[in-house]
Formats: sequence, structure tokens, C-alpha cells
Amino acid sequence: MIDPTCIFCKILAGQIPAYKVYEDEDAFAFLDIAPFEKGHVLVVTKHHAPYLTDLEKPTLFTLITAVQNVAALLLKKLPCDGFNLVQNNGLCATQVVPHVHFHIVPRWNDRTVNWIPGKYDDPAELAAIHRRLTT
Ligand code: 5GP
Ligand code: ZN
Repeated sequence: MIDPTCIFCKILAGQIPAYKVYEDEDAFAFLDIAPFEKGHVLVVTKHHAPYLTDLEKPTLFTLITAVQNVAALLLKKLPCDGFNLVQNNGLCATQVVPHVHFHIVPRWNDRTVNWIPGKYDDPAELAAIHRRLTT
């Protein structure tokens, strides 16, 4: 399925140029135009779907396999020492392009990554969220 208004569908259709680094029957990977780090790659599904949870399991399996292949490529060819996977779902999660994609962000031993941890108000809040997820 293609959404004619979707930027990634346009890239897949060849209507917008992109620096392709990988392709298989279900996935396509290209350099992000505004990288968190140089070499940041997006791995997208060939079918248009907004959320990861919209994917059929076989598609998800081929997508994550493509992510693994591209990550191995970055480790070897950039090269980099590690990588982060980022996968946003919904505007509230800063998903700007509503077409399933993984960000692969290369990382290096001599550069810091700043994750800002949050905290629960108290142990009861943590327990309440656990209860909501498990009952
Ligand atoms: P999201 O916030 O939806 O998870 O990430 C979308 C990503 O797509 C952003 O990192 C953004 O830089 C990238 N992007 C948006 N438009 C284009 C484009 O036309 N070409 C490429 N290569 N990347 C794009
Ligand atoms: Zn799309």
C-alpha cells in the first residue's frame, strides 16, 4: 500500500531522491536528511503503515532483520562502535513521518550520549503502572 501524501512512500516510488544503503523485498534503507549523527540511517517498510503495531508479524520479522543487516553495515563500513535504535509511533512520540521506520544512529566510544532519565513520583505509582499492564 502506498500513501501519495507520505514522504517515505514518495522516496520508495522514486519521486523524492534519497541515498539508498540497503533494499530487500520488504524493507528499504536510506540516509536520514537531518542526522542525529553522521551515518544515521532510516529503515522503512515498503508498505505504508503508521505504527509498528500495524504490521503483520512476517513483515515485522523482515523489517527487524533488515535493521540488523544495516546496523552490521554501519559497524563495519562507517565504522562505528555501537548504535541506538529509535522507533517512534505517534506525534506524541515525535513521529513526524507516519510510515513505520527504525532510526539507526551510529555511536562512538569517544562521544557521550545524553539520555535524560525520568523518575516515578513514588513506588506506588510504579506498582500501579505495572498492575495496569499485567491485569
Ligand atoms: P520521525 O520523527 O518520524 O521518527 O523521523 C522522521 C525522519 O525522517 C527524521 O529524522 C527526518 O530527518 C527524516 N526525513 C524527513 N524527510 C526526509 C526526506 O525527505 N529525506 C530523508 N532522507 N529523510 C527525511
Ligand atoms: Zn508511506
